[in-house]
Amino acid sequence: MFDSLSDRLGGVFDKLRGRGALKEQDVRDAMREVRIALLEADVALPVVRRFVDQVTEKAIGQSVLRSVTPGQQVVKIVNDALVEMLGGDTTPELDLNAAPPVVIMMVGLQGSGKTTSTAKISKFLKDKQGKKVLMASLDVNRPAAQEQLKVLGEQVGVATLPIIAGQQPTEIATRALQSAKLQAVDVLLLDTAGRLHVDQQLMDEMKAVSAISSPRETLLVVDSLTGQDAVNVAQSFSGEVDLTGVVLTRMDGDARGGAALSMRAVTGKPIKFAGTGEKPEAIEIFHPSRVANRILGMGDVVSLVEKAAESVKVEEAEALAKRMEQGKFDMNDLRMQLKQMQNMGGLGMLANMMPGMKKAKAAMAASNMDDKVLVRMDAIIGSMTPKERTNPALLNAKRKIRVAKGSGTQVQDINKLIKMHQEMSKAMKQIKKMGGLKGLAAMFG
Ligand code: GDP
Ligand code: MG
Repeated sequence: MFDSLSDRLGGVFDKLRGRGALKEQDVRDAMREVRIALLEADVALPVVRRFVDQVTEKAIGQSVLRSVTPGQQVVKIVNDALVEMLGGDTTPELDLNAAPPVVIMMVGLQGSGKTTSTAKISKFLKDKQGKKVLMASLDVNRPAAQEQLKVLGEQVGVATLPIIAGQQPTEIATRALQSAKLQAVDVLLLDTAGRLHVDQQLMDEMKAVSAISSPRETLLVVDSLTGQDAVNVAQSFSGEVDLTGVVLTRMDGDARGGAALSMRAVTGKPIKFAGTGEKPEAIEIFHPSRVANRILGMGDVVSLVEKAAESVKVEEAEALAKRMEQGKFDMNDLRMQLKQMQNMGGLGMLANMMPGMKKAKAAMAASNMDDKVLVRMDAIIGSMTPKERTNPALLNAKRKIRVAKGSGTQVQDINKLIKMHQEMSKAMKQIKKMGGLKGLAAMFG
């Protein structure tokens, strides 16, 4: 993926080969490509502007190394700048340098992943650093919120503060501190309440808890999938409390990584963890260089198309592109896609190359899908009636049994295929939204 942006830029710079320095106009041409890549990765516009300006200035006038093409060199400059903007080479650690119990306060909007991240970080501290950890939920708004943390605590083997009904967040925080001291706890994690949007009551409550507990770390939890919105959230919170870091959740569902770049630029705070799934162990220390690669690799429709063009009949692809353009993607299209996948060297590769395909890939993984399964899926679709192929919603329980019999499979196989079709159909819409198909159609046309 990384190579292909390099290829893109390479085209712009080919004429420059062998000359001494990067010229302004050529750098600007290349930066146009970079700009597009960043916007496709959902990086906030002001951040893109700032980034492009900085890199342009840096690149112009640099002498070209003999061993690399100018395009490659610009990619390197861009990559380095991305890594830098994401926090550099160092991996930021939690600051626990205070008298125990060291308090970590988790803040953020409802649904951002605070409670899950609280449990994940607690498990991380217990397992990886041998800490004695206590968790307390201060979320008195949602009835089941405290219970949710308790259940997670049992799951990961970390103690939670006993629930007492009717207490206010500040009262719970005070009790949690006392309890942590009594039990000689090393780290106390406070999971605060979230609202669906930023509001003053939430902020005041958060500030009161912060005043009582003097957290060493105040971590803002944000959903990386919310893209541009995440930036607004970060801005609001950092105006109210002293954030010390960011936890970016749902990085598993984010093919783009753009939120990370925006977040760092807007808050100026290090991203300390990345949530990568729903399971308690699905958390990683944030690595700027990996995310930089991810951002540069985004929107790689061009190389996908080049590969596709080698192995797919042009007419077929054209027809598919047209249908996708109209937001249509039925079982006939899926069947064609499956054939193309076989031609193109299997499933994993295709899913890796296409933005928005992460979920489709997960669905494939969930169905234990290997390339042999492609053949079986073809058989399943073959056993559908033409009407069912164009309108998979027709497939009720009775029809599924018939299709399963006809293709020598199980009903659950039919269900998996339907699920996969749905995810792919969603991915297609996403690609369409990004305008990626225009390029696709143009190349085939
Ligand atoms: P809160 O309202 O901020 O406390 O959010 P929760 O912790 O309750 O999380 C909301 C939903 O997001 C739950 O279904 C979590 O399983 C899910 N979730 C949290 N973090 C991640 C993540 O990193 N990846 C994925 N895929 N799901 C996550
Ligand atoms: Mg919660």
